[in-house]
Amino acid sequence: TKFVYAFTEGNKDMKDLLGGKGANLAEMVHMDLPVPPGFTITTEACRYYLSNGQEPEELEAEVTRHLEAVEEQMGKKLGDPEDPLLLSVRSGAKFSMPGMMETVLNIGLNDESVKGLAAQSGNERFAWDSYRRLIQMFARTVLDIDGDLFSDALHALQKVKGYSGDLDMTTADLQELVEQFKGIVRRATGYPFPQNPRRQMNLAITAVFRSWNTERARIYRRREHIPDDLGTAVNICTMVFGNMGEKSGTGVAFTRDPSTGHSGVYGDYLVNAQGEDVVAGIRNTLSLKDLEQLDPVSYNELMDIMKRLENHYRDLCDIEFTIQEGKLWMLQTRVGKRTAAAAFRVATQLVDEGLISAEEAITRTTGEQLTSLLFPQFQRDAQRTLITKAMAASPGAAVGEVVFSNEQAEARAAEGAKVILVRRETNPDDLPGMVVAAGVLTARGGKTSHAAVVARGMGRTCVVGAEDLLVEEKAGTVFIKSTGQTLRAGDVISIDGTTGEVFFGAVPVEDSPVMIYVSQGLEAALEAAGDDVDTCELVRSVDRILTQADKSARMHVRANADNPEDAARAREFGAQGIGLCRTEHMFLGERRELIEHVILAATPELQEAALGALMPLQRGDFEGIFEAMDGLPVVVRLIDPPLHEFLPDMTKLAVEVATMEARGQQVPEHTRTLLRAATERHEDNPMLGLRGVRLSIQIPGFVDLQVRAVAEAAVACRKRGLDPHPEIMIPLIGSDKEFRLVADRARKIIADVERESGYDLDIAIGNMIELPRAAIIAEKIAEDSEFFSFGTNDLTQTTWGFSRDDVEHEFIPTYMAEGIFDTSPFETIDREGVGELVRMGTERGRKGNPNLTVGICGEHGGDPASVHFFDSVGLDYVSCSPFRVPVARLEAGRAAV
Ligand code: PEP
Ligand code: MG
Repeated sequence: TKFVYAFTEGNKDMKDLLGGKGANLAEMVHMDLPVPPGFTITTEACRYYLSNGQEPEELEAEVTRHLEAVEEQMGKKLGDPEDPLLLSVRSGAKFSMPGMMETVLNIGLNDESVKGLAAQSGNERFAWDSYRRLIQMFARTVLDIDGDLFSDALHALQKVKGYSGDLDMTTADLQELVEQFKGIVRRATGYPFPQNPRRQMNLAITAVFRSWNTERARIYRRREHIPDDLGTAVNICTMVFGNMGEKSGTGVAFTRDPSTGHSGVYGDYLVNAQGEDVVAGIRNTLSLKDLEQLDPVSYNELMDIMKRLENHYRDLCDIEFTIQEGKLWMLQTRVGKRTAAAAFRVATQLVDEGLISAEEAITRTTGEQLTSLLFPQFQRDAQRTLITKAMAASPGAAVGEVVFSNEQAEARAAEGAKVILVRRETNPDDLPGMVVAAGVLTARGGKTSHAAVVARGMGRTCVVGAEDLLVEEKAGTVFIKSTGQTLRAGDVISIDGTTGEVFFGAVPVEDSPVMIYVSQGLEAALEAAGDDVDTCELVRSVDRILTQADKSARMHVRANADNPEDAARAREFGAQGIGLCRTEHMFLGERRELIEHVILAATPELQEAALGALMPLQRGDFEGIFEAMDGLPVVVRLIDPPLHEFLPDMTKLAVEVATMEARGQQVPEHTRTLLRAATERHEDNPMLGLRGVRLSIQIPGFVDLQVRAVAEAAVACRKRGLDPHPEIMIPLIGSDKEFRLVADRARKIIADVERESGYDLDIAIGNMIELPRAAIIAEKIAEDSEFFSFGTNDLTQTTWGFSRDDVEHEFIPTYMAEGIFDTSPFETIDREGVGELVRMGTERGRKGNPNLTVGICGEHGGDPASVHFFDSVGLDYVSCSPFRVPVARLEAGRAAV
């Protein structure tokens, strides 16, 4: 096996093996961009290390060979005391995990070579600054020493000398720091800081391998659904120096604004600084415009390169670059992360610029991004008191209590509170707090700081660089410099990630422009946006993308709705029918009593009378729904839930009766009757009991009532000139005989109504697949059934044997923490188990009836990953709650291209 690739040997499609960073460095080398020489150790070597606890034997020799090649090319040797070659050792997995894994810069410096570097560069301060950085990074990442020990020492020295920042430190200060740092290393480990350059490099490589499995990396992967077994590559690259003085610096840039999607480059630059300073938010940064003034030659070259990268990758790219004494070097590029709004705008811009097709544009956006754009925002004209305005780093409107640490954030969130994590600056250790927070606010750092990058990736509202705030995490206070006020943990604030504003208290929120668009149409959204150009462009982009998604999609999207209002809303959201109308929802509220009468009826005649009373109500409901969905299919499901849901709780009633008896009170006859009925109907496992089709077989009067109500409502609509398309769906089928029994009864009633009314109604009759047995015998069922709809809520429950009502708070969180689940199987379809039943049920069903229509109406119908799966097994439609319809439309389109 080959474990090491020179940058010249790879390309951008080798991310599995070389990681994203390695693959893209190689690609840039092929594009003849200025990349410092180096090589990449493969993810395969990492996987070997992780499973064997040691590097593969051949690795050492391979690394030596590639190192020698670099030394040759550079005319320097690693750690040479006279003229040292210095290296960076950086992690880089297939999927970007910003700040989650380790990087060590300046490998090759020691007590001797630091002098060589000083002499060669003619810059002593720079050499010692680089050495202290090496010790600091190496100690923290490779030797696992608490990083605070070093930053505390650094700040203490700055304080004693009265400096305002790192740039004030002299060569002598840095030499002193190096001594102090070496002392810290010796005290912490019992050994001196390693002086052998090759040993430094080997230890750093191992540390990068190990960093794949740090706690924060695991949390990040779970959140982002990145598999745990990929491993990371290691990139070893010749150092170039942004800390050589005023003509040097380092920066991060985007080919378009990743936050709004504005076309035109965007970036942060730090003079006289090295790599991590920019993302760590150590100092506040300059913009690229400033760089244009400082160093027009490098700036122009950078612009040129960014243009080329965009054309090459046909997407927004982000880059890391360093300028060493006026010479530009590219250290990294990748297709850049962006906000949801930017994703939509960039996608349509790229279409207009001829870089991608309209179909490809829909794949550049996701259902999650669309979801985040549907979130509410702060009311435009609500009263509010501004605390400060800083940089908008990740959009949204977040209201919550101030917390300062992961522990506080997690504790308060667990109690149901919304929290805003407030930090001086964030580092990767803050991830757990960011995961549970509604928003993140930092006092330092730019739009490319760690907090900003991670928050954007997670869709968290984030404001950074609020310099007016003095955050004292240990004391638990935020001092507002301009006003002298103080915020404490628990105080409520509101942060606007779109404008960068921070407010006292809870500011009320309103519908977002995209929500107005999906619910009221383009005109209404544009009108609401007024002269806000960014918002208008965003809304137009979403419209173009969704229109294209509908065009590209193979599957239809229907909605689950059981009243005329929801049906009308679903239609506005773009639903092409109703996939599930849960009729039992029509029996709630004051109608519950009518069902009670049905259950309590002493004779068949009384029962029939009780059912008869429901008839006009049901018919009216259906008529309203058919009208709202005029011309589109409406699947009406026969009553499904266990009857006890319509009766008062047995235990409570028994206690009530016993209490009355004990007090010598008269127990009303009705209460006694109810208790008797509730006791009779009691089931230990009601979800596995008398529900679904079993109920229709037990009390056939329900079938008569409901089917007649559907058919008569259809007739009433036809008389009004409407075009209703009802279908009848029988739930919880396990046997073809169950289906036939109820379907025949329903067909007879439809025929009766057709005869009575003179209308030909053409009402399809189908069934739900919610039990594994139904999926197994699907061929037989389909011989008589016109359509299937997978009820993946029950199918998940019955396949796993989990109670869908209990597991969410019980063991699913534990299962996720233990890595048994990535996500709850009730949220995203379990492809290999439940999904396999869906595939099998579909195949077998179509064998039994080639014209069978197949859909899904469980909660999974609106889940992006699940929608892709349902497309892949050939379903005809997904049905989901009205609010998720736009997301399902987008995903159905994406799945098809
Ligand atoms: C299902 O089981 O997936 C379904 C849609 O039915 P309900 O949620 O009403 O049981
Ligand atoms: Mg069900």
